[in-house]
Amino acid sequence: MPFPGVDYLLFDSQLTPRELLVRQTARRFVDERVSPIVRDCYRDAVFPRHLVTEMAELGFLGANLGPESEPYGCAAIKNVEYGFIMQELERGDSGIRSFASVQGSLVMYPILQYGSEEQKSHWLPRLQAGKAIGCFGLTEPDFGSNPAGMRTRAERDGAHWVLNGEKTWITNGSIADLAIVWARTPEGIQGFLIERGTPGFSASEIHDKWSMRASVTSSLSMVDCRVPSSAALPGAKGLKSALACLTQARFGIGWGVIGAAMDCYETARAYTVTRKQFDDRPIASHQLVQEKLANMITEITKAQLLALHCGRLKDAGRLDAAHVSMLKRNNATMAIECARTSRDLLGANGITGEYPIMRHLSNLETVRTYEGTDHIHALVIGERVTGISAYR
Ligand SMILES: Cc1cc2nc3c(=O)[nH]c(=O)nc-3n(C[C@H](O)[C@H](O)[C@H](O)COP(=O)(O)OP(=O)(O)OC[C@H]3O[C@@H](n4cnc5c(N)ncnc54)[C@H](O)[C@@H]3O)c2cc1C
Repeated sequence: MPFPGVDYLLFDSQLTPRELLVRQTARRFVDERVSPIVRDCYRDAVFPRHLVTEMAELGFLGANLGPESEPYGCAAIKNVEYGFIMQELERGDSGIRSFASVQGSLVMYPILQYGSEEQKSHWLPRLQAGKAIGCFGLTEPDFGSNPAGMRTRAERDGAHWVLNGEKTWITNGSIADLAIVWARTPEGIQGFLIERGTPGFSASEIHDKWSMRASVTSSLSMVDCRVPSSAALPGAKGLKSALACLTQARFGIGWGVIGAAMDCYETARAYTVTRKQFDDRPIASHQLVQEKLANMITEITKAQLLALHCGRLKDAGRLDAAHVSMLKRNNATMAIECARTSRDLLGANGITGEYPIMRHLSNLETVRTYEGTDHIHALVIGERVTGISAYR
């Protein structure tokens, strides 16, 4: 019997040839283009920007936005296929997957869903081709889990909007050509498209991160930042429109983290069958070590099945935000536990840059927090099963 790798439960037998092909394409890209450089990128805190065009050429950006995205050059693949792209990118590094998630789910999705025809035809082809980079500004210094409290304001002034406020922890912020900024207006929360170079708008990179080092994270500042009326997203209706973007992105995260967990598990499995201690026996021959490997592959398999089921539901138009909360929370928690166990199994070697584990582990600390912390997703699930909101 061959080793099952990460296909313990014959998961692949549930996949279509197209899904397998998309996964293989993304896997090859990561093996050839991401894995050889990402350790250095992480150490040097550099986002490998040249990969943006390469990902675009492979159709990875905004790939699951449905048939209505096709006229703008998007791949319009199914959600399960897209999930495998996210999985493979995050097997490389969570920062690379975060770039693709933000570009597709948090920038292209709202333009497609809520944008004017002019906004769509101007931005979507550029964003899909990687000729423009986008970011999504919702979080503020005092409002993370509770974006409803945001202080950023937009006031009308004739044919313009004038924005004032600050956003922080914004992925891609200082490399973005376009920021989607959510602000409070007299009529409610609204999304605005702010182009790089707009007077009154600035982005500054957040340094000294010990997580997501191969990803750019920034603060955005708006000081009397004047944009034309046409910069508002005409179809956006309050905070729920911003949250719908997050639901899109969280779906990709629920898939992505499986890739990080797989990389940690495969590293630990390979290490423990060769590393010898006590009587020249591999450490994998000890029962306590085997139990850890058994737990990891079981949790990865359950996470794969959860992601596949959610992907099938999404393709059938039946996946809702509370379903996605379960996917994101379970799989991010699973991945972080896998990374911790793998680090343990590698002993001292586990803390070095020679292995990917600490990089994944510290990235996953962010993944557990952003796009709704695991606590907030527990509250979403709790509300679904009790009918009682416990956010306050
Ligand atoms: C690297 C990185 C990239 C990011 N990228 C983006 C981006 O592109 N765009 C963007 O808008 N934001 C982004 N974020 C921000 C991210 O979404 C927020 O950090 C997240 O929503 C949590 O907010 P907070 O950090 O303010 O934590 P807080 O909201 O202050 O939470 C702190 C702790 O309190 C807990 N808590 C809060 N409220 C409750 C409650 N009611 N019940 C129980 N527990 C609670 C939380 O679960 C958490 O454990 C990014 C963050 C990071 C680290």
